[in-house]
Amino acid sequence: MKIFYKKTELKKYLSELKKGEKSIGFVPTMGALHKGHLSLIKKAKSKNDVCVVSIFVNPTQFDNKEDLEKYPKTLEDDIKLLQSVNCDVLYAPTADDVYDGNVKSTKFDFDGLEHQMEGKFREGHFDGVGTVVKALFEIVTPNKAYFGKKDFQQLQIIKKLVEKYDIPVKIKPCAIYREKDGLAMSSRNVRLTKEHRKEAPIIYKILKKAKKKFKKKSLQETILWVEKKFSKNKLLELEYFTIADEKTLITSKEKQKGVKYRGFIAVYAGKIRLIDNLRF
Ligand code: AMP
Repeated sequence: MKIFYKKTELKKYLSELKKGEKSIGFVPTMGALHKGHLSLIKKAKSKNDVCVVSIFVNPTQFDNKEDLEKYPKTLEDDIKLLQSVNCDVLYAPTADDVYDGNVKSTKFDFDGLEHQMEGKFREGHFDGVGTVVKALFEIVTPNKAYFGKKDFQQLQIIKKLVEKYDIPVKIKPCAIYREKDGLAMSSRNVRLTKEHRKEAPIIYKILKKAKKKFKKKSLQETILWVEKKFSKNKLLELEYFTIADEKTLITSKEKQKGVKYRGFIAVYAGKIRLIDNLRF
């Protein structure tokens, strides 16, 4: 596997490959890789000539300083994992390399997608995501880029970014990879205490039960049911649960025909914030 720390060198290398008409599959990550990431990488690997992974903890998408400082950094282990799945290229830059020394995000208009859910609770988050993904797309110029449904709102926003800026890349959504007990894999899971880790699978269990309820009950009744469940839980604190249109991410008062719904949840387990979602 080739490892690059500087975009100038990566670009030079990739432009040679492109001359040879090689297709590039790209998986942007923040590292602390787990099987969820690897499932995206394997997909990218199987559908393209060359698989490029980036590991970059993007400071501009963090609204919480402690979350940024404590974000797990395990580059040596990550490299071993990437080698084990035969990843071709790793780009592991500094913030200065990505941002040319000006580590700031640009303001984006994602037609309102950015004001829902995560956008309400993490100020500036999607400006940071938009800025870094746009920059990474310009550096890597992939044919296809792979994003997990684990961050469903992010996935929809990236699709919008590509559409608005006419970026010639195909966005490939990938299924959520879960632990055996149902907890969605996340780099933040290693920061959970033993107690919180044991309790965390409840999040997915409640999502699945809510999906069943939603078949018979109204939108509001289902939301209230989930809120009540969490109000009784001493270890997990619900930040939000909502049922929204998959496409617009907007929630409505009543169920509407023809709309594909999805349940979205964010929960604090101590100081660790966990998110999950499920097609309803
Ligand atoms: P992150 O390193 O958390 O920024 O994630 C990098 C990419 O991996 C994003 O597209 C995520 O949505 C995706 N991802 C993270 N966790 C999972 C998971 N459990 N299943 C599927 N994709 C995931």
